[in-house]
Amino acid sequence: MPWGCPGLKIMLKEFKMDLHIHTCLSPCAQSEMLPTAIIKKAREQNLDALGICDHNSAENITAVRKAAHRAGLRVLAGMEICSREEVHVLAFFEDDDALMRMQTIVYENLPGENNEKYFGEQLIADEYDKVVGSTKKLLIGSTTLGVNEIVASAHSLGGLTVASHIDRESFSIIGQLGFIPKDLPLDALEISPRCNPDEIENYKSYGLPLITSSDAHLLSDIGRVFTKFLLSALSFSEVAMAFRGIQGRAVSI
Ligand SMILES: [Zn+2]
Ligand SMILES: [Zn+2]
Repeated sequence: MPWGCPGLKIMLKEFKMDLHIHTCLSPCAQSEMLPTAIIKKAREQNLDALGICDHNSAENITAVRKAAHRAGLRVLAGMEICSREEVHVLAFFEDDDALMRMQTIVYENLPGENNEKYFGEQLIADEYDKVVGSTKKLLIGSTTLGVNEIVASAHSLGGLTVASHIDRESFSIIGQLGFIPKDLPLDALEISPRCNPDEIENYKSYGLPLITSSDAHLLSDIGRVFTKFLLSALSFSEVAMAFRGIQGRAVSI
């Protein structure tokens, strides 16, 4: 039966997701944030899926995804990209090719080199938590891309974009710009675990789905908050449909 046909019955199920987790690749994250350790904690927290979003890089995605696969968990592959306005944006991609193309765009527009002494290590791990390298890019820095360019590039690669921790004063779109531009086609907004519940109604007025995520930089923070997705299956396209509220799919916090 085709989509949209009257009488079509889709079985929907709730999935718990924490879509904003850093690994040991992020200089500000703890070195304990290794692939199998992250997955073990995510399982303990009864998450169905997790999003891996390191600062300006996706170099640990494959390792975490392989570790997740062994444990029967799903990973939404992403990055937390810092714009030239110092706005953090989560960008998620369905396939590795798109993710790597976005990483190339980000790296080409990310000046500077990391100094481990000041900013921390940027460790690349394998799926069994063995550290196999590091990246020299200054991942803690800002790209030279405007927030509108990040959203446009991600969308052109079939990605989804979420404005990070909009309730925070630093590195959030509202904190940096003072508002969310009406013509910026974000797919969702993220509120942090510390968000004042009274503020949530205000954020709903933007007319975009709200998610909440841990922004975990250490293992104990994984799953401390999560978003519930009502989907017919656990997939990237279902998450995209939930953001658009298609045929009963929904997002709730
Ligand atoms: Zn952030
Ligand atoms: Zn973050």
